[in-house]
Amino acid sequence: MTDAAAERKMRLLFALRSHGVTDAAVLRAIEAVDRGLFVTGLFAERAYEDMPLPIACGQTISQPSVVGLMTEALAVGPRDKVLEIGTGSGYQAAVLAHLARRVYTLDRHRRLVREAEERFRALDLTNITALAADGTRGLPEQAPFDRILVTAAAEDPPAPLLAQLREGGIMVLPVGQSDAVQSLIKVTRTPSGYDYEELRPVRFVPLVEGLGQE
Ligand code: SAH
Repeated sequence: MTDAAAERKMRLLFALRSHGVTDAAVLRAIEAVDRGLFVTGLFAERAYEDMPLPIACGQTISQPSVVGLMTEALAVGPRDKVLEIGTGSGYQAAVLAHLARRVYTLDRHRRLVREAEERFRALDLTNITALAADGTRGLPEQAPFDRILVTAAAEDPPAPLLAQLREGGIMVLPVGQSDAVQSLIKVTRTPSGYDYEELRPVRFVPLVEGLGQE
């Protein structure tokens, strides 16, 4: 590793720790995924800063510290089957792939799915399946899931996603109006229903029903 690359990595890890991400496995997973491969074009040089950045189709790659906090809240285990809604660049899915047995990730934009798949192939991440689909319906043919992570904001947790969560499973998602501050919520499925815990304010692009134009 060059000195510059080592310094960038240290700065990123420092940002994660100062936002309260402390789980060693999560930090290792984030360290293992080069965010520079997920940001192209004008903003590529800012890939190692702790900020969200624009990607294709008018979407954004999340801030690394938010990826860290969401991944930590999801408490992924090595045997887990995880569903992510909102592939975007594929960065969050790649981080999850280092922690889980299998990751399914859905995006409503075919172009984002195609580009993310190329990155997964380049990184030799063979335990991720990316699909162009409306994530508000989940992925019934692979349900139930141990963990579900939604990286776009809904007004309420979509009912199909709640239904596709295994008992004892955890779902983390931002809820709230798309143009206001949203709350990151952790939902745990119990034998008798669902427990809800509010984690922190966040800001995500909206979860939109139906497939996108490209
Ligand atoms: N996790 C991504 C960032 C997600 S940005 C990353 O690591 O880069 C939010 C994504 O959610 C966008 O790509 C958007 O197209 C997608 N999205 C919004 N509504 C959706 C829906 N109903 N189904 C699937 N994806 C959706």
